[in-house]
Amino acid sequence: MQDNYHREINYLRVSVTDRCNLRCFYCLPPHGVQSIPHEEVLRLEEMTRLVQAAALVGVKKVRLTGGEPLVRKGLTAFVEALAAVPEIDDLAMTTNGILLAERAKELKAAGLKRVNVSLDSLRPEKYARITRGGDLAKVWAGIETALALEMHPVKLNTVLLKGLNDDEIVDLAGLSRQFPLHIRFIELMPVGTCKPWAADYFLSAGQARETIEQNLGALHEVRKLAGSGPARYYRLPGAPGTIGFIPAVSDHFCDRCNRLRLTASGGLRSCLYDEREVDVKSALRRGAPLEELARLVARAIALKPGRHHMGEAGEGGGQKAMSRIGG
Ligand code: SAM
Repeated sequence: MQDNYHREINYLRVSVTDRCNLRCFYCLPPHGVQSIPHEEVLRLEEMTRLVQAAALVGVKKVRLTGGEPLVRKGLTAFVEALAAVPEIDDLAMTTNGILLAERAKELKAAGLKRVNVSLDSLRPEKYARITRGGDLAKVWAGIETALALEMHPVKLNTVLLKGLNDDEIVDLAGLSRQFPLHIRFIELMPVGTCKPWAADYFLSAGQARETIEQNLGALHEVRKLAGSGPARYYRLPGAPGTIGFIPAVSDHFCDRCNRLRLTASGGLRSCLYDEREVDVKSALRRGAPLEELARLVARAIALKPGRHHMGEAGEGGGQKAMSRIGG
């Protein structure tokens, strides 16, 4: 279905839980985040029904995210249920990768096509510092498992962090020469925990690109990858993988945005940065028919703003934690 700005909205990101087994310093505070009470989180059957309804108004692609999707019990059966929705032709997941090595095989068998793994550093100590305790070896084992299972394209998400991982941009980009991996550099967005100080760590995608070209040579744009959204992809000569840039702040791609988000607590959001949500939980819990749910999805699509105002003086968005909305 088209929104009011003639964009085709066909992609739903589902936050399956607000809980996470890491606490990345820019995403969550060190302590004291209250998880959403159990009964307020949508059941997976409710999420499946919402996806079925969204499919009626043109959603074709679903991504599971969170929080950390792999900590949610029952995820494999959920993937199986979503894979059975005939209109859904792309089913992917964004994960921190900690539990991926042990779960990838069953998830692929259930119908999960692809994974994006978040990885902000290749150095174990720094990775543990950024994630407050994460074990890089486990993440790397997860990436290797996804490659071995041929869940292509396997994408890595790296948030650019000035003064923290800018010295690793070349090493991270270099992974695309060693492996069929697609490394995407993402600008830090002023959302949730990091909103007051995100500017201090901000490094633009353009600066990252310059660093890569200075050290590894000219980048050549390649055609779009499967499931590629806002990123532009480039290849180093002869590399099996690619390098992508997502300038979420400096050069927003709102005119090409095709997304909706379902929060773990049952709100439909039309923009990461817009606080308005359409409540779908109440309708789901009173057993509303699919057609009624589809109308709620259509209402969320109609609310989609023309663009976000992230980083602009006086804007008021981005208050809610990324882990709750589904990053
Ligand atoms: N736990 C999963 C993971 O780590 O990929 C999925 C949820 S996590 C919120 C999704 C992605 O959002 C991660 O790649 C994370 O680095 C990114 N992220 C979180 N906060 C961000 C911010 N303020 N700006 C840009 N990316 C952010």
